[in-house]
Amino acid sequence: MTATHSTDTIVNGARTGHGLTDGHHLVVDALKLNDVHTIYGLVGIPITDLARIAQASGIRYIGFRHESDAVHAAAAAGFLTKQPGVCLTVSGPGFLNGLVALANATTNCFPVVQISGSSERHIVDLKRGDYEELDQMTAAERFAKAAYRVDRAEDIGRGIARAIRTAVSGRPGGVYLDIPAAVLGEVIDAHKGAKSLWRVVDPAPRQLPAPKAVNRAITLLAGARRPLVVLGKGAAYAQADNQIQTFIKSTGLPFLPMSMAKGLLPDDHPQSVAAARSLALREADVVMLVGARLNWLLGHGEAPQWNPNAKFIQVDIEAAEFDSNQPIAAPLVGDISSVMDALIEQSRGRIMAPTPWRDRLSAYSAQNVARMSQRLSRSADAHPMQFYGALRAIRDVMRAYPQAYIVSEGANTLDFARNVIDMRVPRHRLDSGTWGIMGIGMGYAIGAAVETDAPVVAIEGDSAFGFSGMELETICRYQLPIVVVVFNNGGVYKGDDVNSASADPSPTTLMLSARHDRLIEAFGGTGYQAATPAELSTALADALAKGAPALIDCVIDPTAGTESGHLTNLNPKSLGHA
Ligand code: ADP
Ligand code: MG
Repeated sequence: MTATHSTDTIVNGARTGHGLTDGHHLVVDALKLNDVHTIYGLVGIPITDLARIAQASGIRYIGFRHESDAVHAAAAAGFLTKQPGVCLTVSGPGFLNGLVALANATTNCFPVVQISGSSERHIVDLKRGDYEELDQMTAAERFAKAAYRVDRAEDIGRGIARAIRTAVSGRPGGVYLDIPAAVLGEVIDAHKGAKSLWRVVDPAPRQLPAPKAVNRAITLLAGARRPLVVLGKGAAYAQADNQIQTFIKSTGLPFLPMSMAKGLLPDDHPQSVAAARSLALREADVVMLVGARLNWLLGHGEAPQWNPNAKFIQVDIEAAEFDSNQPIAAPLVGDISSVMDALIEQSRGRIMAPTPWRDRLSAYSAQNVARMSQRLSRSADAHPMQFYGALRAIRDVMRAYPQAYIVSEGANTLDFARNVIDMRVPRHRLDSGTWGIMGIGMGYAIGAAVETDAPVVAIEGDSAFGFSGMELETICRYQLPIVVVVFNNGGVYKGDDVNSASADPSPTTLMLSARHDRLIEAFGGTGYQAATPAELSTALADALAKGAPALIDCVIDPTAGTESGHLTNLNPKSLGHA
């Protein structure tokens, strides 16, 4: 790969000899040396050759239609593999498009490295007006875990090492690495270049909790009358599946999975209190948070949603997270795998969930499960199709595909799908996450399919799908086993809003007659339209059996759903809009 003579020797995976190398080759060599096997990106000036050289070197390059989707895909890769996902964008606006997703990854604590080319420093810094002029590093600083710039080719290896180390160690997050065009094109001695690269040793070192802190937590849990464990997506990310399962099963503790922690233990596990969430929060007296933050998704730990006298134990790699919302009576700083090891080791037999509490939760769960199953059967034949009828059909077909990944976004679509679609395997659900955003759909789906080769079903609201819909072309170009299911109710939230002020469609209106299935047909994928749960079952089963790109347009009742789904209360009150 590096342009050299036949007298080459290999140093740090790069060819040397008496030849020369350049910034492009050094970036690729440094990534390979650190086991990067895939780059998600969108080419243009000044990074097109970088993508070509990466591809020629054996790195897989996945090219997108919008930078946000590329960075979302890299973020999904980071979450699923515990290695930083790497993505590549052009300068200026391309960089900014990617930055939205980098900020989202940082908020979700997913490790990602966004590499962007940038314009001439001496022109940018004096604001003389350059092609895609932007001080990208300064812009990224505010939205990423860290931002670095490489100003000399000889620092490329250092820059990549630093970016990888920062992305995965401690609390994972997004790192921005700026590489000016001039540095990519800089030619240096190949041997010197090769020697400047290094492989990061133990990128995310274990962090063991102090024995005293472990005992404090165990004492608290052992004395609880109504204990509860909350599993968050940090617990899923940590890949401590065995320890978490052992701890939960051996202690009998009731657990509540946050949406992306679903599947760490199967959703139908008898100790799961997903269906008794309100009771569990309202009454638990000792709560152990494992890789879950007490943010808005958990009502900030406040009454009346929570027992005002609850005591919190929190397991997290980031000590500054403790006390962000409630006093943490037993902070346990460390990586979840090490902390769970310590808890299992030191707690032997001391923690047992009291039976009356478990029985109450089970009874409450059973009631809610029965109510849900009634609701699902009632909507099975409803016409036009309702969310529940459609989701029940998807759930039933998916049972034959336990290894399939679920991606989900939307308002009502997200809320209903979370409750209806059971997860049985860890890290198989990716959704709107901590910010509750729309637009992650196709990026996450592509990232999951590329990293795992497993089938992916993306359950999308029609509005949410629109943010990344053009990636259907990417899905078809790479022939990925992704089935996109669009819940088409003709609107943001719902499709029956009327604009009483003018002839324009209302702000929440989308085209009810839209045939999303025809979009994928334009790229050679298979399109289906389903107006009943039976048609949806047939279409999904067919698409999954083919294992090829498909989109199912589900015609949902435009009056179904509520504004903002479960988050109606977050809309500020107004004096009316008629
Ligand atoms: P959820 O939204 O599912 O509740 P959050 O994203 O709020 O989850 O919380 C994830 C938490 O997990 C973050 O506070 C993060 O610092 C923590 N975390 C991530 N990886 C690890 C790890 N390997 N060990 C310990 N904590 C981790
Ligand atoms: Mg909709």
